[in-house]
Amino acid sequence: MTAEIAPWTGSRRLLRSLRDVMAGPGTPQQRLDQIATLIARDLVAEVCSIYVRRAGDILELFATEGLYQDAVHRTRLMVGEGLIGFIAAQAMPIALADAQAHPLFAYRPETGEESYSSLMGVPILRGGRVIGVLAVQNRTQRSYADEEVEILETIAMVLAELVAGGDVISPEEASVGQDLGALPQRLEGLSLSPGLARGTAILHRPRVTIDRMLSDDPAHESERVLEAVAAVHGQLDAILERPDLSDAGEHRDVLEAYRMFAHDRGWLRRIEEAVRTGLSAEAAVQRVQDDTRARMAQVSDTYLRERLLDFEDLTNRLLRNLTDDSFDDNIQLPHDTVLVARSLGPAELLNYDQTRLRAIVLEEGSTTAHATIVARALDVPMVGRVEGLLSRVETGDAVLVDGDNAVVYLRPSDDVHANFDAALDARGERLRSYRGLRDRPAITKDGVSVSLQLNAGLLAEMNHLYDTGAAGVGLFRTEIPFMVRAAYPDVATQTEFYRRVIQEADGLPVTFRTLDIGGDKVLPYIRAGEEANPAMGWRATRIALDRPAMLRHQLRALLMANDGGALSVMFPMIAQVAEFDAARRLLDMEVAYLRERGLPLPDDIRVGVMLEVPALAMQLATLLPRVDFVSIGSNDLVQFLFASDRGNPRLEGRYDPLSPAVLTFIAQISEACRAANMSLTVCGEMAGDPLAAMALIGIGIRELSMSPANIGPVKAMTLSLDLATMSSYLETLLTSSAPSIRSRLKAFAHDHGIVL
Ligand code: PEP
Ligand code: MG
Repeated sequence: MTAEIAPWTGSRRLLRSLRDVMAGPGTPQQRLDQIATLIARDLVAEVCSIYVRRAGDILELFATEGLYQDAVHRTRLMVGEGLIGFIAAQAMPIALADAQAHPLFAYRPETGEESYSSLMGVPILRGGRVIGVLAVQNRTQRSYADEEVEILETIAMVLAELVAGGDVISPEEASVGQDLGALPQRLEGLSLSPGLARGTAILHRPRVTIDRMLSDDPAHESERVLEAVAAVHGQLDAILERPDLSDAGEHRDVLEAYRMFAHDRGWLRRIEEAVRTGLSAEAAVQRVQDDTRARMAQVSDTYLRERLLDFEDLTNRLLRNLTDDSFDDNIQLPHDTVLVARSLGPAELLNYDQTRLRAIVLEEGSTTAHATIVARALDVPMVGRVEGLLSRVETGDAVLVDGDNAVVYLRPSDDVHANFDAALDARGERLRSYRGLRDRPAITKDGVSVSLQLNAGLLAEMNHLYDTGAAGVGLFRTEIPFMVRAAYPDVATQTEFYRRVIQEADGLPVTFRTLDIGGDKVLPYIRAGEEANPAMGWRATRIALDRPAMLRHQLRALLMANDGGALSVMFPMIAQVAEFDAARRLLDMEVAYLRERGLPLPDDIRVGVMLEVPALAMQLATLLPRVDFVSIGSNDLVQFLFASDRGNPRLEGRYDPLSPAVLTFIAQISEACRAANMSLTVCGEMAGDPLAAMALIGIGIRELSMSPANIGPVKAMTLSLDLATMSSYLETLLTSSAPSIRSRLKAFAHDHGIVL
């Protein structure tokens, strides 16, 4: 026990000395110098250097013990340059026994650092921003222990108060981005939830100010942490008991999963450890949060990153409890709030008064994050991955959010406002006109009927069946409810969920796709390990056939949920007939299982296949007699036809689905299905693009399934289309050598009054 406590005692003493220096006499420079000396002595390092970030992303050596004093204020590195710049750019600590051997080592002769081998450096963080770097060096090739890195991080945190305090450099300079002032800005990001909105920026959870960083009474601080944790548990329980979350919807699942993190032992242990180093309870929580945030930058696993965001949400709650900060986010919340945050947890989002929330803009965020799923279900436009957002926006700024095109305008000028007004009006007008088409069947001018269906994956999306007038759900992506859960849902939970989906469909057909996980859709309870090509890896039905229990449970739940009705189920990512046969056998086994037990079954079971892998199209003659319907997943099919990763931004736009190759390929499938009298749907993004939908109808497709917002535009196109004329023109284009026939189709549509 004593051995465990010993290192912390040392660090506590150091923190106390640092506090004395920081509060003591002398100029800021003198205090920084003393601090460098103290740290070097305490950590038994020959060198301790403090770099401060100046405007223009420059890291300037502000104080050093051990390097040549002449280098102070002379040695400057850009963020990203050398090891010090790397620490700042990555917001990550590094510890190297032989720093000079590192490819990023940048030699600065004026410092005399050639005599030192090892280096340990940590970012100085303030509000999640890197405001400097603290580094120690040793002559010998010393391997720094993890605890030493943690101690240096704690010191850096205390140092951050001094650096950001305004004495070391001016507060204006310390606030990166200040020079961007109140100029209008146009920022681009990633569209997470569609729609347009204007409003007033509200910074989510402005940083809690910590008045007391250090404490001499770790036991008392520990007690305070435990009390605050208990309070957070109580608050989360209260949210879960809210009547609007009382049903079995996804919100509740999301929150249940999230609440589990509040009980995470590792997280609490790290806070306790930080308290033992001599930090106050709130400083310890902040310290662990800074560390988590820094580590997050290095995590590539999407699921893990999103769970780390949940921790950030929790730490903010803890901090607010510890500092008695108000929890009511809605106090003085304007009626047109545009919420601006680095990241957002699902519970945080639900804490805001939804009647006042117009849009959300995030510096981070991702398409499958819990908060994104909730925002979409709530119909709130959301743009994420906006670089440098928090350094550019202040509470009260006017903001325009275009969730359709992933653009955010800050403090827009009058003409941008005017253009946005026009876009809003046009959107409103369009939505009204689409609503007017709701009850009109989608029939071309020459009388060909087309079935327009919906893609969905959330219970909350099912109501779009009614506002769009869609013919049914052509693709229900069942993996989404699995992704927001912390553990694999059992058969009863799945049955209940599918039953709700069927109820919401109110008699309209729903085609359930079995789990399509893998690739970018990661489940916490299934680990595929690193894959070089995840899109072509262990995913979807491949996983299901290797782990048949999972698919069997899902099929059992689907059968039970449809008792007495009609079940349509399809298998994704089938590459060969034998895989379909194997999946189908599992379904037959489940039917037999339920029958043996005298349990009710659907009256009608339709079994389909998704055509997403080109190889399957070469086996249609063998495949078609075995299936009840085929659905083309054009997103995957196109990526495999062109060998072009659909998620790679560098290939974005390089290959057009509106190309002779893709259309000829789909036309052949369509022809084979027509000859076999087989139902064929296209359910990838292509189906929802009015121009591409026009081409698909032109080559014989009669069923299209798309996201809710696209039903109106595709219906308007269909109603204005003379199919016979268009398809004979299209036929002439299919032999073209051009990579894309998009512009020619557009010109045709324009000349023939086709509404796009
Ligand atoms: C597709 O690949 O076109 C498809 C509909 O499936 P997902 O987009 O879910 O992969
Ligand atoms: Mg697919």
